[in-house]
Amino acid sequence: MLEVIAASVAGLLVGSFLNVCIYRLPRDLSVVQPRSFCPCCGAAIAWRDNIPLLSFLLLGGRCRACGARIPWRYPAVELATAALFVAAALAFAPFLEAIKFMIFSALTVGLIVTDLESRILPDEFTLGGAVLGVALAPLAPMQAFLILLFAPLQWGARWLSLGEAVLGALIAPGLLFAMAALYEKVRKREGMGLGDVKMAAMLGAFLGLQGALLALLIGSLLGSVVGLLYIKARHKKVSEYELPFGSFLGAGGLAVAFFSPASV
Ligand SMILES: [Zn+2]
Repeated sequence: MLEVIAASVAGLLVGSFLNVCIYRLPRDLSVVQPRSFCPCCGAAIAWRDNIPLLSFLLLGGRCRACGARIPWRYPAVELATAALFVAAALAFAPFLEAIKFMIFSALTVGLIVTDLESRILPDEFTLGGAVLGVALAPLAPMQAFLILLFAPLQWGARWLSLGEAVLGALIAPGLLFAMAALYEKVRKREGMGLGDVKMAAMLGAFLGLQGALLALLIGSLLGSVVGLLYIKARHKKVSEYELPFGSFLGAGGLAVAFFSPASV
């Protein structure tokens, strides 16, 4: 029970910080300076109006100074992050493994929402995430897969996990890059950006090559189906609609992290 409460509070706080990142990183603003402000009137937000979830409810979803609507994205990101933190606390037994999947969830929520809102996947989340994932691999070992083909026999679980993370961080983006290049050659237009390729490195570092490939597969299928339905429903032209592919990759990554038998 205590861990569920701790995980939800941590998730709400991290979600609140993610909201700052989601707004500021695509605009190349610092995420530490200045303090939170209303994007509508510029008024600084007092700490009591900046409590995750609670302030949104108490303020009725409006800025105290100018009355502008606070986007539903703010409480949604806080809630989603808290829910994933609780899920990680319950699903992963060793403490470090739970922490690793909380970090992965936070990065992925940040990427999903930033891509949806601004069609940008910030390097801080993708490349920064890839480095973090590799660093965490030996601390919370994952199942070895492709690395077993290359690794010396005497390697222990931690080294194998590190190797798997490095392989994932290199090969998953390499494959996506090759797919993107092929798509451009065949369809004569850009299917995905470099941000998606960098995001695949983050997925590979956290999930290993096997998990990252599964995430790419789920993300591509989901993206094609949902994207096509959206284009049909909104009567948009396929050539004019830019699919937030990173958001679908993120959904695939979360599905693999929490539902794939290999990761548990
Ligand atoms: Zn305002």
